[in-house]
Amino acid sequence: MKKCVFLDRDGVINKDLGYVSSISQIQLNESIGESIRLLNKNGFIVIVVTNQSGVARGYYGENTVWEINQYIMNLLAEEDAHIQEFYVCPHLEQGIVKKYAVACDCRKPNPGMLLAAKKKYEIDFGHSYLIGDSHTDIQAGNNAGLKYSFLIKTDGDVLQAVEKILSIEGIRET
Ligand SMILES: [Zn+2]
Repeated sequence: MKKCVFLDRDGVINKDLGYVSSISQIQLNESIGESIRLLNKNGFIVIVVTNQSGVARGYYGENTVWEINQYIMNLLAEEDAHIQEFYVCPHLEQGIVKKYAVACDCRKPNPGMLLAAKKKYEIDFGHSYLIGDSHTDIQAGNNAGLKYSFLIKTDGDVLQAVEKILSIEGIRET
């Protein structure tokens, strides 16, 4: 069984400029490379779970989301920080793009993305965590039954949350 830390994307990994729709808008948060590297080194896989209702709202396509995700993954890989996979919810019940205007079980606070990852990677939720910047993220973590979910206010908080996770797991930071 694997241990996992789930991260929200906009606001946790990169600066949240609101409906990020182009790689030119991607600015990584300062401590994110170090945070992910530290998790990887201590036996955690890192998975991103992101609501992208901009797709259902018709602001940008699903391809754009995946292009941005790939770009972020490559930037982090240059810092030796490895993301296992991105899970994306493109839905919004009241969206205008018909294909995505559905009530789904993956839009946070629903736990669908977390549960899909749990199944695919055989993750032990008793030793898994989430870091997010909205109450919706925290609710998703709670709904899925993760050990603990951290609500961060500034990007420096990500590294602090990671240090807390290592301490809860009894891992001496190296
Ligand atoms: Zn969804």
